[in-house]
Amino acid sequence: MLPRRGIDCQTDAWKRELARSFTQVDALLAFLGLDRADVPGLDPEPGPFGILVPRGFAALMARADPGDPLLRQVLSLSAERAQVAGYVRDPVDDASAEQRPGLLRKYSGRALLVTTGACAIHCRYCFRRHFPYQDLGPSQSRWDRALTEIARDETLTEVILSGGDPLMVEDGALADLARRLAGIVHLRRWRLHSRLPVVLPSRITDRLGAILTQGRLPTVLVIHANHPRELGEEAREALLRLDVAGVTLLNQSVLLRGVNDDAGTLIDLSERLFDCRVRPYYLHRLDPVEGAAHFQVSEHEAMRLIETMRGRMPGYLVPNLVREIPGAPSKQRVA
Ligand SMILES: *Cc1c(COP(=O)(O)O)cnc(C)c1O
Ligand code: SF4
Repeated sequence: MLPRRGIDCQTDAWKRELARSFTQVDALLAFLGLDRADVPGLDPEPGPFGILVPRGFAALMARADPGDPLLRQVLSLSAERAQVAGYVRDPVDDASAEQRPGLLRKYSGRALLVTTGACAIHCRYCFRRHFPYQDLGPSQSRWDRALTEIARDETLTEVILSGGDPLMVEDGALADLARRLAGIVHLRRWRLHSRLPVVLPSRITDRLGAILTQGRLPTVLVIHANHPRELGEEAREALLRLDVAGVTLLNQSVLLRGVNDDAGTLIDLSERLFDCRVRPYYLHRLDPVEGAAHFQVSEHEAMRLIETMRGRMPGYLVPNLVREIPGAPSKQRVA
């Protein structure tokens, strides 16, 4: 049964790769040819939100450059410990939007399921970096309750699987979830928000492509890339496979100081995304989460960057500049 073994081999490769990720600051620095002393403001012992960087993602970083925009997204700095006014643990007020454990209802017609707390990478600016994932309880019974609620509410047309990262869920459980969602007659599509096509492209197997597209519901996958260099050749191949499988591909970025706060980088990002068959969807202003204030870019600067993009690119390659306002009925357009 060679073909079957072949599939299993492909299926497990991403888990093996994930298990080999960098979880120690010193090991990551050594891989890049850096010492602790090379990185101003380094925090070599981050607290509960530790370092997590897949090797494939680290391989896309420039060597011996402490300011590399990919490295900046994942390396802990002592600035994260600063208490800055207005920067809080739950900046988007997930807590008030939680209707059942892990089921967030904020926007008309859409429900968001915090599918799992796990990610393949830890982004230092993450707005859910303090989310109480450990209070969610076992996923199966939680999904059961969420699906019951989704089935009961006929105003819902779309379910968004988020997290954490929903593609961290195993194929079998994901296929089961997809089948159950497709069985809810008032749903018209499902959406996944995942950084895995970018940071762990080996997760995007042919089998996953089939799981994502086998049912009745059109599939939208919103990936998350902030810098053109994050989209390496493996990520491009993974995304092309999903495109061929029939997945609608969108990208959301976060505007980050020292990562992508210049028009040239944002333009290159949009171009690279489209090379990978992905349309730029959102450019988010950073949510003011505790520990990430050093990444903030001013609203004025953000608007100027979008204006520059508009002057140089077709409209469909310019993302919507948005921010989240707790309690508002949708994400708010900034420009
Ligand atoms: C961002 C978000 C959505 C989706 O918003 P879109 O504008 O449709 O992309 C849905 N629910 C929650 C809770 C969100 O934070
Ligand atoms: S939820 Fe997304 S932004 Fe947050 S750490 Fe995970 S991958 Fe990064």
